[in-house]
Amino acid sequence: MNQVDPTAQGDHLYFTWTAQRQAHPLTIDAAEGARFRTRERGWLWDLESQTYNVNAGHGCRHIQERMIAQIRELPAAGPNMRLAIRAELGELLAARTGLPKAFLATGGAEAVENAIKIARLVTGRSKIVTRRSSYHGATLTTLAVAGDPRRRPFDLPPAIHIDDPYPHAPGSPSAWVRSLHAVLEREGPDTIAAILLEGFTGTNGMQVPPPDFWPAVRAACDAHGILLIDDEIFSGFGRTGRWFARDRWAVLPDMMVLGKGLTSGYAPLAAVMTSAKIAAHFDDHKLWCGLTSYAHPVGCAAAVGALEVYAREGLVDNAERVGEVLHARMIDLSRRPSTRGAIRDVRGFGLMRCVQLDRPVAPLAADLLARGAYAPFRDDLLFLCPPLCLTEPDAHAVADLLDAAITDLVR
Ligand code: PMP
Repeated sequence: MNQVDPTAQGDHLYFTWTAQRQAHPLTIDAAEGARFRTRERGWLWDLESQTYNVNAGHGCRHIQERMIAQIRELPAAGPNMRLAIRAELGELLAARTGLPKAFLATGGAEAVENAIKIARLVTGRSKIVTRRSSYHGATLTTLAVAGDPRRRPFDLPPAIHIDDPYPHAPGSPSAWVRSLHAVLEREGPDTIAAILLEGFTGTNGMQVPPPDFWPAVRAACDAHGILLIDDEIFSGFGRTGRWFARDRWAVLPDMMVLGKGLTSGYAPLAAVMTSAKIAAHFDDHKLWCGLTSYAHPVGCAAAVGALEVYAREGLVDNAERVGEVLHARMIDLSRRPSTRGAIRDVRGFGLMRCVQLDRPVAPLAADLLARGAYAPFRDDLLFLCPPLCLTEPDAHAVADLLDAAITDLVR
């Protein structure tokens, strides 16, 4: 097919989030199920699901066929054209989320920006509250409102954060809820347009919230006319062993933001789901949102295909079950004398998990690569987020690699 040598890529294209001389990209040339093949390291377990998005796994024929059918029929159409594939996706998303109307965008951060615009348009207020441990994207507005350190180089105005100490000390209300109430009091609740929260935090630590947190947020939003935005870009579409992470807390937000697993990463697409009340607002008020490639037909086809695969193959339940296997193996490893207490914590849900060590994990990730697994990491956290098609034997194979690598690391 393509005869150009991929190692020439860096001559003319940038790699993301790195000084270009420090980039060590792998050359990927095939992928199947929960693994991908590289020129440098052969087949690797994909513990990052590429960018936490290939939930259905690699090489999924059904999603491919849906996309190919759409490409043949009509690959390009402006965002305001009516299309059967858009109507089909809208219906599926409303049924799955319980929020009746979707605004379709291209990527996660853009969708969060649109949710913020919608919150401002609907409430007439401007402030957005987030958790201190949070990430909502890398556009300037999403960096400005969140707590992630990736905001640092940009001299952004201070954000408004709920503190989320972890592990949380016992106490009722929890420290998270006390901080929420303090923020509302300090800022004036009638100046706040929305509280924006990840369904379950991703790379900022995968902290399990105290049980009173989500209900308290919902109650505060109801009391003060604040909109609750649930960012499920990372945690949605089965990643946590539920369709959406917030299902665990049985709280219905006013908006949900979807991305990544929405198309299983097979095409760019993201969505803002809105409540009936918000939808009714825009019946008569202008929706000041829209970009060229929004609601792209091929993205819509990929999303319909992915949603069908998640349901048909039971991948949400599989993530729950196989995630437990991986978790049990890591707990067992943490208690083994040979690991010398180096594993501080093992946490998460479904196939959205992390292992916290008593030291930086970069050397561990490098060793895992040599052993056959590609694992994302940050500081002392190693993330375990493989595609949801991971089988139980696969989970044991991955756990065997982790077992050997961690045991060697602390030896
Ligand atoms: N919100 C959350 C919770 C995310 O994890 C991410 C991506 N990691 C985003 C927003 C931004 O999505 P994107 O990279 O598609 O813009």
